[in-house]
Amino acid sequence: MYANVIIDISHEKVDRTFQYRIPEELADQIQVGVRVRIPFGAGNHERKGYVVEITDRAEWNTEQIKEIAGIVPGSVTGQSQLIRLAWWMKERYGSTMNQALKTVLPVKQKVQKREDRLLVCLLSKNELQAAVGEASRKKYRARERLLRAFLESPRIPYGIALRQMDLTAATLKPLLEKGVVGLQARTVERSPVESLKKIRPQSGRSAAICRLNPEQQAIVDDFTARYDRGDRRTSLIYGVTGSGKTEVYMELIDHVLSQGREAIVLIPEIALTYQTVLRFYRRFGDLVSVINSRLSAGERYDQFERALSGDVRVMIGPRSALFTPFQNLGLIVIDEEHESAYKSELSPRYHAREVAQERARMSGAALVLGSATPSLEAYSRAIQGGGPDGAGYRLYRLTKRAKAGSRMADVQVVDLREELRAGNKSIFSRGLKAAMERELAAGHQVMLFLNRRGYSNFVSCRSCGQAMKCPHCDVTLTLHRNGRLVCHYCGYQVRAPEKCPSCGSPYIAGFGTGTQKIEAMTREMFPMARILRMDLDTTSKKGGHEEILASFAEGGADILVGTQMIVKGHDFPNVTLVGILAADLSLYSSDFRCGERTFQLLTQAAGRAGRDETPGQVIIQTYSPAHYAIDCAARQDYEAFYQKEMAYRQVLHYPPVCELLSVLVSSRDERTLDAAVSQLHSWVAEMPEAAQVRLIGPAEAPIYKVNDIYRKILYMKQENYDILVKIKNRLDDLSGRAEWYDRVMMQFDFA
Ligand code: ADP
Ligand code: ZN
Ligand code: ZN
Repeated sequence: MYANVIIDISHEKVDRTFQYRIPEELADQIQVGVRVRIPFGAGNHERKGYVVEITDRAEWNTEQIKEIAGIVPGSVTGQSQLIRLAWWMKERYGSTMNQALKTVLPVKQKVQKREDRLLVCLLSKNELQAAVGEASRKKYRARERLLRAFLESPRIPYGIALRQMDLTAATLKPLLEKGVVGLQARTVERSPVESLKKIRPQSGRSAAICRLNPEQQAIVDDFTARYDRGDRRTSLIYGVTGSGKTEVYMELIDHVLSQGREAIVLIPEIALTYQTVLRFYRRFGDLVSVINSRLSAGERYDQFERALSGDVRVMIGPRSALFTPFQNLGLIVIDEEHESAYKSELSPRYHAREVAQERARMSGAALVLGSATPSLEAYSRAIQGGGPDGAGYRLYRLTKRAKAGSRMADVQVVDLREELRAGNKSIFSRGLKAAMERELAAGHQVMLFLNRRGYSNFVSCRSCGQAMKCPHCDVTLTLHRNGRLVCHYCGYQVRAPEKCPSCGSPYIAGFGTGTQKIEAMTREMFPMARILRMDLDTTSKKGGHEEILASFAEGGADILVGTQMIVKGHDFPNVTLVGILAADLSLYSSDFRCGERTFQLLTQAAGRAGRDETPGQVIIQTYSPAHYAIDCAARQDYEAFYQKEMAYRQVLHYPPVCELLSVLVSSRDERTLDAAVSQLHSWVAEMPEAAQVRLIGPAEAPIYKVNDIYRKILYMKQENYDILVKIKNRLDDLSGRAEWYDRVMMQFDFA
């Protein structure tokens, strides 16, 4: 047997492995992730490296392969764990070991050290209040954000300010010069005496700010007792929106930290606002660090180094934070565990929930999932209970809003077909219009939610019906306000034509209702209201997302129009009405999870109303009021939704009832594509496992042509994951020898 070893553990060196023979006497100790001593180079100097692969295939002349000299004592480090995790991901999702290693290891790159500094507010409370007011009047958004943050915490790490608040050096410079803000070295604060004297709660842990309510406390008590007994069963906290899940997470983290262990908290990127981060920071001080997708490779590497050295003990971030190299990981929390962003779209196409489970298992940590609308995967495992194999999750519930006086909103469904029958062709039902007038008159804020992304207007000819399509993709082009038609799949752009290119008719017009159009219509209906819009277009610039939400939260507008982005992250105490304009929009897609997504979106959107004492109202407009996803969301009845949706999955053999493997096959040449998919189909049909597998397709992908490449899909369903993996590996092997291999792309995906 041979071991492939990398000498320098970093992203860039992953491709450079060296092969060694495994000596007989070490055979049973050497496994992936173990650190070994090896003779290296012409002089056979001893170096240390990590085993990343074990194989019986010699890469060259077997005589020339050197032997591993020995194992480094105490060699199971945080990094060994990550390498093992990469191996597990490679096996489970079917990627190469390189792709898996590149996913778990950060790019090694040095950055200038600014991390070690803190921004300190040098103003008195009154001066600070005045400065906030001034920044707000002058619309210095970034400055206002920083000053408001100072109201809550007089010291803020430079890194958090730059990364989470999108502050720039240019914004800071005048503040530093005028003596509003000071820079302070953090190292000073690390000296224990100093830190005890003056910087609590900014350095180290501090007590919770609010007393937990009995429901919250019961979860904490049960979890910690189980944890201390060594019980590491995964927990699911199913708690309605605003029920105080985050407070519970912090309490659990505190418990784990007090035992000298570390914690990782996953939060979907769109919910990772600086308000959220500040809450953790206030509680755990500079033990907390954050990573997000806006970090440079160097900044990310730096954060991981700090985790490795023990400076950072709580890492918050999107799914990649899972690969923080903690040595003694005690807890992983996944907030909003149902979010689709936890699934990677790059190979290895992993799901953070599954990888977290494995990482927790490896390091003896506990995994806690939280959601107001749990995924069917998680909830089905939670209501199965314990079970002899321990596969079931522990289920915790939070049934009430945590804030005193805050209640769940009152939800009302409006049937748009009836509006049409009554002669109302506007996008606002009579009920929604009346409610908006009433709330705006009372000085409250309104959110209008369109559960479809972008400005999805397409243009078609009213004479011949022809829609304007992208010449490279099977999608209609989207009309933007600048009069251009844009393909959202390949970026193709063209001026909107004045005459129909196919029949010459001048009667061509936009269809569908995008956020831009909704904004325009809202303006028309409510000319006095100040309106903000939030979608891909308005948030594409750095910090755009945060800026719009912050401005709305501070009363900078009366109405916020937006897509799914508006339902996350911020608390809007003055929002008393949420209007969902067309609840059906996300309901009819080709994804088997579209009912679940719709229910989740509607429930989360409804959760935005009435976060404070003023009671909230939600109006859901729909053409299909009887659809269970909409009906259950309106009644805020998760259980009922779960039962109905599960029944549907049962009948059609979809996850979590079955495992689902899809093979997306694509080619520039349609004939080659057809040949390849039908061959793949017959290979599967001839396998011994075929009888136990439901094989579906080949079918055209939901979008058949993208960027001039044609795509077809094969689906396989089976209760047993391992059988699907076996089939996948076999297909991988066979296709490697097929004559079409070079002209076809294959992408395997476990749903
Ligand atoms: P979730 O994560 O479930 O949406 P949060 O933890 O964000 O809920 O809590 C919602 C709001 O309720 C926050 O403003 C939070 O400060 C407040 N809150 C949470 N727990 C309590 C409590 N025990 N007492 C008072 N307020 C609380
Ligand atoms: Zn025409
Ligand atoms: Zn295109």
